[in-house]
Amino acid sequence: MPDVLKAPLVVEFPFTRSLGPVQSAFLTGLRERVVLGVRTTDGRTLVPPVEYDPVTADEIRDLVEVAPTGTVTTWAWNHAPRRGQPLATPFAWVLVRLDGADTALLHALDAPGPDTVRTGMRVRVRWAAERSGAITDIACFEPYDGAAAEPDGHRGDFADPVTGIVAPARLDYTYTPGRAQTAHLEALAERRIVGERCPSCRKVYVPPRGACPTCGVATSEQVEVGPRGTVTTFCVVNIKARGLDIEVPYVYAHIALDGADLALHGRIGGIPYDQVRMGLRVEPVWTGGARHPDHYRPTGEPDADYDTYRELL
Ligand SMILES: [Zn+2]
Repeated sequence: MPDVLKAPLVVEFPFTRSLGPVQSAFLTGLRERVVLGVRTTDGRTLVPPVEYDPVTADEIRDLVEVAPTGTVTTWAWNHAPRRGQPLATPFAWVLVRLDGADTALLHALDAPGPDTVRTGMRVRVRWAAERSGAITDIACFEPYDGAAAEPDGHRGDFADPVTGIVAPARLDYTYTPGRAQTAHLEALAERRIVGERCPSCRKVYVPPRGACPTCGVATSEQVEVGPRGTVTTFCVVNIKARGLDIEVPYVYAHIALDGADLALHGRIGGIPYDQVRMGLRVEPVWTGGARHPDHYRPTGEPDADYDTYRELL
């Protein structure tokens, strides 16, 4: 079997969220080197704070300061920190019950090794040098031998409160399209469009997935299709995508290539957007060294008869 293609892929987006009154006070407090919890109606103190009591569902807004010192209630050693984690060197993930709190906060503990960490050990907050109103304002926890620190009695009434945060979400991974799509992509680089035929129902799938979606059997017989095809259905795109240099409006269409039993999609060019129609005959346009068609354009042939593509809608 030939080698399959693979490529690094990164999916990344910043998620902007607003904070309610409780999270706003909590994160503003961290900026001011103060840890706030909430007091429930039955007298428990929850840190990190929540807006509704997880037991009674009561709304809770009674903010109360707890100490920056506490006790590890459980932990796990992280041998290989990843990008974006609190510390770059191996550390312990810990749940810490701060002095004055009844629940525990998840954070990192800076410790020389797993044999120096134990449940019940005393720790304290190490504040970040620069703080902006985020959980990372606590740089980490560190071992601590002293007595419980005394809170100053803050109740969350800080000036210039933090009202929102941006939480970055990122996933990076190695993608491999598998045998069938690798063959398809390598043929595209030679400007040929290759699908695979199902040995059972004889349908030809482009791009091929390596198995027939109807019969469930593996496919392997390669079939060159197109390059011409028929627009089966389409939509008009009116929103300009960032990083995509295409004038709007434009048309994105399902295209049944000649010889294929599954429509693929592509952009339609070379014709005003409001003249694109079902049955329009099109062909791929390859530009530069691209590994796939840039878009499809009209061939000038008469429109295809509806009955020739009705099964492909
Ligand atoms: Zn089949």
